[in-house]
Amino acid sequence: MAFFEGAELPRPQNSAKIVIIGAGITGLYAAYLAERLGFEVEILEASDRYGGRILPLNDFADFPIELGAEEIHGDNSIWFQLLEHHKAELIKDDGEELYFLDNQLLTRKDLMPDEDFRLTLNFVENLWKYEGKEDFSLFEYAQQKGIPKRYFPILESLVENTYGAPLRKIGIKSIAEFDNNWSAGERNFLLKKGNYLEIIEEVFAPILDKIRLNQIVQKINYQSDNSESKIKITTNNKTEFLADKVILTVPLPILKDGDIAFSPVLPPEKLEAIRTIGMDAGMKIILKFKKRFWGEDTGIIYGGRFAQQYWMTGYGGKSAENQVLTALICGERAKFLSSQDAEATSFMLKDLDAMFDQKASQHFEKAHIIDWYKEPHIRGLYSYPAPNSEQFRTILAQPIAGKIFFAGEATNDFGHFATVHGAMETGYRAIDEILDTVEIHQEDKSNFEIQKMGLQNKFTAEFQALSNWMNYEIRMEIAEKMLQKNYAVDEISELTSLDLREIKKINN
Ligand SMILES: Cc1cc2nc3c(=O)[nH]c(=O)nc-3n(C[C@H](O)[C@H](O)[C@H](O)COP(=O)(O)OP(=O)(O)OC[C@H]3O[C@@H](n4cnc5c(N)ncnc54)[C@H](O)[C@@H]3O)c2cc1C
Repeated sequence: MAFFEGAELPRPQNSAKIVIIGAGITGLYAAYLAERLGFEVEILEASDRYGGRILPLNDFADFPIELGAEEIHGDNSIWFQLLEHHKAELIKDDGEELYFLDNQLLTRKDLMPDEDFRLTLNFVENLWKYEGKEDFSLFEYAQQKGIPKRYFPILESLVENTYGAPLRKIGIKSIAEFDNNWSAGERNFLLKKGNYLEIIEEVFAPILDKIRLNQIVQKINYQSDNSESKIKITTNNKTEFLADKVILTVPLPILKDGDIAFSPVLPPEKLEAIRTIGMDAGMKIILKFKKRFWGEDTGIIYGGRFAQQYWMTGYGGKSAENQVLTALICGERAKFLSSQDAEATSFMLKDLDAMFDQKASQHFEKAHIIDWYKEPHIRGLYSYPAPNSEQFRTILAQPIAGKIFFAGEATNDFGHFATVHGAMETGYRAIDEILDTVEIHQEDKSNFEIQKMGLQNKFTAEFQALSNWMNYEIRMEIAEKMLQKNYAVDEISELTSLDLREIKKINN
């Protein structure tokens, strides 16, 4: 869409300064939006790199591997649209499923005649239908529904990584709420070539120079004598940054562990939200073999003892060799493997040897472990739906005193936490909330709206709905500006929701 490629568009002037804490996808997207809207922006990042839980491993195999986010969940999301806008080539993430049950590797087809297998699959597929008032663990719910003990390892494999924690820690009602709010679409995709970080670098190029690396935020003082007073942010090396608004995007464990001292202290309900929403340990172990011994079409293997899932990483033509498997592990198993350091790999080989008749050890070449639990500024996988936690996401997301704005995947209360697109949505929300708190000169208002609408349009139609609050006069003003810039009447109508006749009236 030509309209908002943008450089020549009027930018609103705004003297407010936004400091964003954390340069993961949330922080980068929020900074990008803020910069386009004319704010002064600075991003403070604790580690020595940006991207957060998006991190590539480029030199391990004949294709880049994602150590963090890997799947694109659905084709109706802000992340999908960004990748499309960037013309990234996507492939569908499918392939044959294998199940390790009773010491045998079986396909779905092999298992379908087994009533207990059908019961387990049916249970997983219908979690979203739970309508009970009580929230309790998925473990108990599975017992209530008669899932046989023999199928519990398969059940754990099927759901634990999706929700980010063991069956005993996730709540059925919270899961159902999450699943019911999901609107991103059901198909999963993968990037065919390159890695996410490259794309992010290109799309967010205008704000990369606003990132200050190695700045671990330790204190945020938002005590205000009057509404004009600045927020003071202090980092590990005693550097002080001043801001009018702060967007906090750090992972949940950073807040749980009290790494950042707030003055005044956070309200009790916010602290309760931080305590209640969960985030558990997680890691990926990438395994390279000299030979592919798991078959041509294998997409994913369920039922491992040490890792919930193993998948063929180069699936769909990413790799010419296809000799890499990724193990994704969460919860107690991840904590155990974390305690084993490099030895963790041997447990993966044990699992795979049992499945493939000792072939894993025989053909093993090398491994790469990313232990997100041990990453000092992340400390886990992604937030999970603990029993009775869902209402707390809204509380976690609420801004404080019109000054501190909470974003990041865990604050997503519209069904998309634990994902990249969900994280981006919270970055957008925070900027939208900030716009409600700053004074905008009347003459700048339409410029703001043009920019805002353009950004929305650039990445997702879903967010156009947010423009509905714009009053008629502002939409007419935007239409007039677009006409002056010779945009087609149809295009103006589409973006402003104005009737063609009304637009034509402007010139007369
Ligand atoms: C193994 C794994 C697999 C995943 N798979 C998928 C997937 O397939 N699809 C999907 O959509 N999502 C997936 N996710 C989830 C997705 O990666 C996250 O939801 C998303 O990247 C989170 O972005 P964020 O900006 O909210 O947080 P983060 O990316 O964690 O960014 C927060 C930033 O804050 C910084 N920070 C922390 N403390 C401080 C401090 N005191 N001062 C300054 N900075 C600080 C951190 O260093 C970090 O850079 C996966 C995640 C993991 C770990």
